Amino acid sequence: LPEKMAQAADVLEILEKNGHNAYFVGGCVRDLLCGHEIGDIDIATSATPDAVQKIFDKVIPVGLEHGTVIVRYAHQSYEVTTFRMDGDYSDQRHPDSVYFIQTIDDDLKRRDFTMNAMAMDKDGTIIDIYNGQQDIDSGLIRTVGNGHDRFKEDPLRIIRAVRFASQLGFSIAPDTLRAMLSVKQEIETIAIERIAHEMEKFFRGTHVQTGIHYLRETGVHNHLPVIKDFPHLIDRLPEPMRPLHSFGAVIAMLYMLEPAVSIQTWIKSWKCSNKVKQQALELDAALARLQSDGLDRCLVYRLPDSCYKDFTVLGKFFSNVSITEKDIRDMKQLLPIKSKQDLAVDGNDIIHFFPDAKGGPWIGELLNDIEQEVITGNLRNDKKAIRDWIK
Ligand code: ATP
Ligand code: MG
Repeated sequence: LPEKMAQAADVLEILEKNGHNAYFVGGCVRDLLCGHEIGDIDIATSATPDAVQKIFDKVIPVGLEHGTVIVRYAHQSYEVTTFRMDGDYSDQRHPDSVYFIQTIDDDLKRRDFTMNAMAMDKDGTIIDIYNGQQDIDSGLIRTVGNGHDRFKEDPLRIIRAVRFASQLGFSIAPDTLRAMLSVKQEIETIAIERIAHEMEKFFRGTHVQTGIHYLRETGVHNHLPVIKDFPHLIDRLPEPMRPLHSFGAVIAMLYMLEPAVSIQTWIKSWKCSNKVKQQALELDAALARLQSDGLDRCLVYRLPDSCYKDFTVLGKFFSNVSITEKDIRDMKQLLPIKSKQDLAVDGNDIIHFFPDAKGGPWIGELLNDIEQEVITGNLRNDKKAIRDWIK
């Protein structure tokens, strides 16, 4: 087992010592068999959430209604879910009821795709009722059971199928693809937050070009907010598409492709966080600057480190400029200041320069001007030089 799973195996062992069954399930088993790096570790157990809470010292009840808790063990977090079966999905969001059960088999049956429906015990023995291993070997995404029924139960699985195509570069099995086509309009009934969460992973996928291919082939995008109002947006996506690491970058790209829809509108329609909005605005400002002035000092100064990667990708698409993250880091290194805190003066100094003046917004504005002069190299970052410049 890889290090991460070997550590988590202690949690399985403790559950077993207490008389329960416990397995690794979901993405970590899939990623292990695909030879990919392992993300979060999900554990399934016969122990009820109450029992889990009694066994471990630190347990956070995050989703008791579907039997999920987070177990903190040896400084790591594990999502531990009681074996369950889902009742009917009358609202197409949540099952009406869930039943806790004693064996793993029926728990695997409720899972979306064969590659996600395998379990592995602490010794590495795999339970694979739905031939997930075989589908992984053939690079196929296939629903567990009848695709039409499974997508009707939870249409988010349609989005998850394209998301996994984008992450793994797998093909979608023909039956599953046909079922996606027949159920796709029901995507419109799902909470947008759930869709956005999957689409963020979609655009980050190493094989996002494969994902886009499946969007085009299925027309799934015609049921997503705003995108559905612009049928040709999908044809204007950069070719080949490259992974974008933040959803803010995705929004910035969509805005560049369709300026009729403001960033604000994208953010509202997709119910994005304030953080995503800030990323989108910052990248948009940087891309606009790249188009007008090229990669200059002000651009580098204002661009947050976390945006470098996506900026290089989008800069290539929209301005055909080949910049590397290292280019940006090197330029940033040469700047006289890295942030406003590095300025040789602050608001107090300004007040001291003008003992008779009253405080007010002019101080902040003056500091902005000073900052601008210093980063462009017109003014030395030195208290005396700055005072002389002001006076
Ligand atoms: P990731 O590596 O991105 O976390 P994952 O496969 O672990 O991928 P999660 O969303 O963490 O995806 O879900 C964990 C597991 O729960 C999945 O592997 C799958 O077995 C099951 N699952 C998640 N969402 C659904 C769903 N909508 N319908 C059925 N099963 C699901
Ligand atoms: Mg997971």
